[in-house]
Amino acid sequence: KVRVRFAPSPTGGLHLGGVRTALFNYLFAKKHNGTFVLRIEDTDQTRFVEGAEEYIASCLEWCGLKPDESPSLGGPFGPYRQSERKATYRQYAEQLVASGHAYYAFDTPEELEAKRKEIPNFTYGLATRAEMRNSLTLDAAEVSALLAGNTPHVVRIKIPENELVSFTDLIRGHVSFDTNLVDDKVLLKADGMPTYHLAVVADDRAMEISHVFRGEEWLPSAPIHILLWRYLGWGDEMPAWVHLPLILKPDGNGKLSKRDGDRLGFPVYAQNWTDPKTGELTKGFKELGFMPEAFVNLLAMLGWNDGTDQELFSMGELIDKFSVERISKAGAKFDFEKAKWYNHEWIKKSTAQELLPFVKKAFAAADTETGEDVQLVKVIDLIKDRCNLLGDFVAQGGYFFKAPGNYDLDAVKPKWTAEKAAFFEAYTSELGDGQQAAALEEKFKTLAAAHSFKPGELMLPLRVMLVGGKFGPGVFDIAVNLGAAETIERIRKAIA
Ligand code: GLU
Repeated sequence: KVRVRFAPSPTGGLHLGGVRTALFNYLFAKKHNGTFVLRIEDTDQTRFVEGAEEYIASCLEWCGLKPDESPSLGGPFGPYRQSERKATYRQYAEQLVASGHAYYAFDTPEELEAKRKEIPNFTYGLATRAEMRNSLTLDAAEVSALLAGNTPHVVRIKIPENELVSFTDLIRGHVSFDTNLVDDKVLLKADGMPTYHLAVVADDRAMEISHVFRGEEWLPSAPIHILLWRYLGWGDEMPAWVHLPLILKPDGNGKLSKRDGDRLGFPVYAQNWTDPKTGELTKGFKELGFMPEAFVNLLAMLGWNDGTDQELFSMGELIDKFSVERISKAGAKFDFEKAKWYNHEWIKKSTAQELLPFVKKAFAAADTETGEDVQLVKVIDLIKDRCNLLGDFVAQGGYFFKAPGNYDLDAVKPKWTAEKAAFFEAYTSELGDGQQAAALEEKFKTLAAAHSFKPGELMLPLRVMLVGGKFGPGVFDIAVNLGAAETIERIRKAIA
């Protein structure tokens, strides 16, 4: 039975890499009729950020990644917030101490600080644990007295010497770590809270997680987790490991970070995120005008493909085609121009009716009244192929709802003549409601000939009069959409 979990820590906004991890978990679960669990890993109170959990939930919702079990939904393996599972972790820490795989460490923060000053790159472990104050170095009576006196202490894992921890990663294949290079990580903190390492293993087991999909940055933690699975006696029940490739900067030089987005002008979060500590706003894909379908599609392609050249996938197709075998080992470059391309393709392939709610929001945000939906739907159909981001609808279609204030007639004026003005005045009397674009064009051409003009000389001026600039779909389509009265008004205003 497939059970996967997305296990973010509520320490801030949900980064591109985080949402991709959620997506791959989700796709795998849905593909195998499994369960997608959202677990909040909030054991590090010092990094806890108010509002982050709600933010994560709303990002998942926007992307259409609905958990089957979560803190708000509940489920048979709850609670789904680690802070609410606190009672279960200590017994495991004690069990590990009893079996000799962990020990109590009584070193005070000051003592640790002094050691760090004395030994550059100090780590607590094989080479140093004998010099520290812990249950390996102190005699049993002293340890009991310290514990009885409630002396603050942590529990550390006792990493074995000269062992190779080997395992199979479903993407990377055979992976092994030399234990001599791993430190004695803290498992239980002085405040009684577990660290991530203990909590993640205890909860993955308790929640019967079958596959752990997470970012490659967690690969160095895997040997600690694997040792814990074994030492707790659960070695046979260990989940399968799947460490997803890093997301790299556009030039492929290093891991994508929040600062790259700020610097290069693209969002790194699913939705806007204001850090409550600094008040700083980091841009999100949603507010920048991405459709959730496009965002999910582009995320899926960061490290996965179906083995063909196909690049556009709906969620349904992704679920259908997803396979771990086709996830790449190599880091995936994130390119914002390519991200926009996905959105453009999704806008093109969506119907005007599907785009309507998004476009309405974009116009509302720009304080533009768009009137009847039927009218807006027609406009969307005319301009959607020109839009990359949802906000582009306002730039590409705003003139349908607001007459241009600034005409770029200067671009046309040098060749402007009284004869041309007379032509346009004459053309206004040809316009009436209910005409088709083809008919308007036909009349335009006939009248141009009668005034001894080539229609080409007059087309651009007409466009500028109606649009305010030299862009947009077919000018007669624009005129039809504006209606006769508005078209006439704009022509008259421009030639006045
Ligand atoms: N809480 C970890 C994080 O914030 C989860 C890592 C894992 O999936 O094991 O990413």
